[in-house]
Amino acid sequence: MYIIDVAPLRRIPRPAPQLLSYLSQKKLETGALAKVPLRKKDVLAVVLGCRDFDKQEIKRADFVLKPVSIILTESAVFALWQLKLAFWLGEYYFTSPGVFLKMMLPFTGKKFLRLVAQNQKMARRQQLWIVPTLADLDRLPGQSKTAVHSSLKNSRLQELWLKAQKGQLTKIAGTKIAAFLPWANLRQITILKESNAHHRSWDQYPHWRVHEVVFKIARLLKTSVALESSLPSVETFYYAKNKQINLKTSWPRKNPTVKIIDQRQELSRKNASIFSRDLQGAISHHLKKKFPVILFNLRRGAATFILCRRCGLTVLCPNCEVSLVRHNTRRGDLWLCHHCGFSKTPTKICPECGADQIREFGVGTQKVEAVAKIFWPQARVARLDSDATPTLARQQEIVRRFNRDQIDILIATPVIFSHLLKPVVLAAIISADTILNLPDFRSSERLFKIISLAKNFTKDEKSFLLIQTFNKDDRTLRLAAGSRYQKFYQGELQARKILDYPPFCQIIKVTSRHQDAQKAIALLKAAQVKLSAAQKQQKLTDFTIFGPLPGFIPKERGRYIYNLVIKFKPSRKRPILGSQDLRRRNEFLNYLPQGVLVDVDPESIL
Ligand SMILES: [Zn+2]
Ligand SMILES: [Zn+2]
Repeated sequence: MYIIDVAPLRRIPRPAPQLLSYLSQKKLETGALAKVPLRKKDVLAVVLGCRDFDKQEIKRADFVLKPVSIILTESAVFALWQLKLAFWLGEYYFTSPGVFLKMMLPFTGKKFLRLVAQNQKMARRQQLWIVPTLADLDRLPGQSKTAVHSSLKNSRLQELWLKAQKGQLTKIAGTKIAAFLPWANLRQITILKESNAHHRSWDQYPHWRVHEVVFKIARLLKTSVALESSLPSVETFYYAKNKQINLKTSWPRKNPTVKIIDQRQELSRKNASIFSRDLQGAISHHLKKKFPVILFNLRRGAATFILCRRCGLTVLCPNCEVSLVRHNTRRGDLWLCHHCGFSKTPTKICPECGADQIREFGVGTQKVEAVAKIFWPQARVARLDSDATPTLARQQEIVRRFNRDQIDILIATPVIFSHLLKPVVLAAIISADTILNLPDFRSSERLFKIISLAKNFTKDEKSFLLIQTFNKDDRTLRLAAGSRYQKFYQGELQARKILDYPPFCQIIKVTSRHQDAQKAIALLKAAQVKLSAAQKQQKLTDFTIFGPLPGFIPKERGRYIYNLVIKFKPSRKRPILGSQDLRRRNEFLNYLPQGVLVDVDPESIL
């Protein structure tokens, strides 16, 4: 008889122990796979240690160990470095290692496991390129790379998994899941478009980012890592300047004439249209010359908020406290919720005061399209956003049409940034204010980025990028217009130092969601009291707690959202936390109650 220590391939809510012990008839290798009973269910678990049964030890423990249910493999299906990686990621994202183990072993069929366990390695040098989206993968130069992404068929993924483990795949390009392949001899990893938000998972907790996975793999396997970007994030640029990250920057080459258009002046001239007169003139001029135009707009839909002009009521989704958005759909005009899909037939009658005064405001891509069609009825207008082109194939179809000169005016959301279009002489950003007005520490960075990316769609110095705004003197806007990244970076870094934001601290966003607003807030208040007490007692000066505060979207899908923001100052600033800092941080986070969602290095604090 043996005692084995295992980690289940699933999330076990912290602070419950992540390691469990069972009895086994057979001796099992570290990295072997078994099914073990856990809360009346059999769950997959990986073996981390196996030792001889010692009756004394069993007696000392005041519980009885249960036997393993099924042994799936006696030999390892996980390499030691994979186990270390999963455990480190589990600690870093304050979740279970099992979440990451599952990503490293996405299939558990008998045949697959047998092949993984038997796999013989060849020591051919492996290289990995990571791109943010599927569209980027299609555009990657060089045909000799094997593509790995989650949209592949399972049979294909299994085949690639085994080939990677054997070392038969040598050049691999993929989205972030490719980092979890069972490498045989990985020598080089490159993260392309490193500041792209798609490098972070956002739809499921934990919100892990591929950079952290890659940095840790690099340490475990002594792999070299390079980051590439035409516009690195402030944090990456900071670490690169400190020589802690190998960053290759290819600054945007396009330098069109940028014109910032003051929409306040337009309003005072009684032009309430979404197109300023300058922009109208420029579009007409270029269309006449048969030059196509790209119009960037950040919001989709038609009107982006709906308001009663008499009593001021904003029409909100009943499940989410966000404004409904008017969409022109095949089912007719609808008021839609972008968060839960709730829909409603538009009405002019206010549900609050009964007045016939409900009006729609704000500019989405559909509205831009509709108005453009009125202004330029002869023009061929198309839209590139997740409503008009929900699939990659549909997006690529629009791009092809555009590149064949079959579209005169293309209206696009940031979806366009993953595609390669024929450069234009005129591009415009309908409103820079959508980002500018967001009260988040990354807003300036995002605005700078969008303007720079938009510039890249223009042809040359004789091209134009027009930006409409109500904040014409905004510093970021000015610097982005002048392509002054270094200057922007210095100011941004200074501001973050003063206000204490990354890279000067790590942010941990703790979220509570509940149908009952009081319960949502009570959970975080309790957490806040516990954390503050621990802080006082242990004289912890490197943590700061803010909140609880209602989320930027205060209610979503019927559940109220509250956030607690924790700032942690590590003893050493480096791209990934050192083990001592990580331990210290988690000792503190262990005071968090069960039921909260933890987001480490969140994309936004809202
Ligand atoms: Zn009203
Ligand atoms: Zn909703």
